[in-house]
Amino acid sequence: MKKTENKMTLGRALRANNRALKLIYKHYPQMVLSYILSVVWNALTPYVGIFLSALVIDELVGNRDIQRLQMLVIITLVSAAIIALGTAIINKWKETQNAGWWLKVEHIVSEKMLDTDYVNLDDTHTAEMLSTIRQNFNGGGWGFGRVIECYGELMSSVFTILGGLALTVTLFISKVPTGAGELTILNNPLVVIGIIAVMLAVTFIAPILNNKAGSYYAKHADDHNLGNRLFSFFGWLGYISSLATDVRMYRQDKICDRYNRNKEDTFGSNGLFAHYAWGGMGLYGAASAAVSVIFTGIVYTFVCLKALAGAFGLGSVTQYIAAVTKVSGGMSSLISGIGLMCNNTPFIELTFEYLDIPNNMYQGSLTVEKRRDRDYEVEFRNVSFKYPGSDNYALRGVNMKFKVGKRLAVVGMNGSGKTTFIKLLCRLYDPTEGEILLNGIDIRKYSYREYMDIFSVVFQDFKLLSLKLGENVAGRIDYNKELVTECLEKAGFSDRLAEMKNGTETYLYKDYDTKDGVDVSGGEAQKIAIARALYKDAPFIILDEPTAALDPIAEAEIYGKFDEIAGDKTAIYISHRLSSCRFCDRIAVFDSGSVVQFGTHDELLQDEKGKYHELWHAQAQYYTEQTA
Ligand code: ADP
Repeated sequence: MKKTENKMTLGRALRANNRALKLIYKHYPQMVLSYILSVVWNALTPYVGIFLSALVIDELVGNRDIQRLQMLVIITLVSAAIIALGTAIINKWKETQNAGWWLKVEHIVSEKMLDTDYVNLDDTHTAEMLSTIRQNFNGGGWGFGRVIECYGELMSSVFTILGGLALTVTLFISKVPTGAGELTILNNPLVVIGIIAVMLAVTFIAPILNNKAGSYYAKHADDHNLGNRLFSFFGWLGYISSLATDVRMYRQDKICDRYNRNKEDTFGSNGLFAHYAWGGMGLYGAASAAVSVIFTGIVYTFVCLKALAGAFGLGSVTQYIAAVTKVSGGMSSLISGIGLMCNNTPFIELTFEYLDIPNNMYQGSLTVEKRRDRDYEVEFRNVSFKYPGSDNYALRGVNMKFKVGKRLAVVGMNGSGKTTFIKLLCRLYDPTEGEILLNGIDIRKYSYREYMDIFSVVFQDFKLLSLKLGENVAGRIDYNKELVTECLEKAGFSDRLAEMKNGTETYLYKDYDTKDGVDVSGGEAQKIAIARALYKDAPFIILDEPTAALDPIAEAEIYGKFDEIAGDKTAIYISHRLSSCRFCDRIAVFDSGSVVQFGTHDELLQDEKGKYHELWHAQAQYYTEQTA
């Protein structure tokens, strides 16, 4: 980081915070408005009571006019009732609007995750940034979560100061009577200016010291985050029942204690922050509190001396002391609000650095023809690809053409580029060189959404959600029950479905429905994932080693059946088990990122020097023994 980037100025803090506030307002206008109204209301209303009670006291110790006293008491009570009512209404509004604000702030960040180019998610710098943003927020509340609080504090301070000043002006301009002896010195403008200067100095020093104490946390956000990360993982380990067997068997609790209850750790009694609490951070905090007490002493002395000399009555004493104390409190919170804003700025800037990551993938606009005949042809033309940040080609010079309705197998050793080939086909990434064509047109020119609609993929690392079975298959809440059931049957899930008393309404796993939710095995989950791919009814259906967790016999069963259920769709199978793919119309053999052979099983096997021959014979013994 350049030195200038480290320098925090109010302008820089305001720019970042204003931008964040605008963004939060765009998403949640009522939340921001209710917060602001409540802040202004709560800052100004106390002065009504201070002002009116001073009038009552002055009347009591002065003229004692019963009628005026009655009137003042009635006004005081009515205004107190109106303020209480207004406070209740505004605070309720604020509370409802701010409910779940933590999640709301998270939502702004997570929206970007869904919107950003897939390639950005793969970038380790992006992943680190996102993780740091979330840790800053969850650990210390830093980032967008603090923006409204900072503005709230600033606005509250400004209104408190303005309200207090309005009630304090007369303290400085009211004159001590000339017969008050030495105390007439209080009329000297230099004395007045001197007192104001001391008050201001003390008012500024206290929050500056306080901010210095607070800045230790901001400066050591990385340590804070690490401490929080360790705690969030090791602190909750005991609650994770799926780990209970290993924890007992290997006494993992003992190893974890080293990280969870270590005195030297960030939050431990010998840790970093304990060290600062004994040192600078604690001293700054204590000094700030002491300076505030000095301020109160000065105010009391000045007001009492003026009252003693006869400048004003008893009612005014209560008014001035209350108002000046509030002005001072307002000043302090103004400065600590600015300090908080400055401390929070780098965290906001980091969040914007993440939110500003551009989407560089070309967004085409051509519509993908919804062809009734599903007559699509895909062509890879000289396609090469390097993952971002990698110097090596994951794919190199791939040329291939295939038509809908065919069965294409993509085989090869692990790491040979099979999954990369599919990710490029689905446009999760764009090729580094070459182009991919759909019916003769570069796929980048099609509308991305529409292009995605023609593919159903069962990725190796597919995920099911802890929702209803039907919702999982359909990918929506209002699903077609008959169609879901049909797809599950096609995927070979009917026996298991028959056992579920709530049918397609059954919740998967126990997270949501702890009583009736069902756990499914890896194989069953794969069948559900296949049913999900079928429900989408896309012209291309792709299985990326969906059976990697299964034994070869079960895999052959699924692949055999899949040929039948894929019907008129193009099915692309990826596997490193050759026997599963022998029935395909075409087999593409990948080796080190290139397609080294392309043809039918029989054709490929004839080339005795070819990769396919080598792989087939390496695996043949296994197949003949297991699947014959
Ligand atoms: P396969 O599906 O045949 O096992 P992949 O397509 O997953 O192979 O991987 C092809 C090559 O690309 C491998 O060398 C792998 O290490 C590399 N690779 C895969 N994913 C990434 C990634 N996200 N970033 C960098 N390299 C990757």
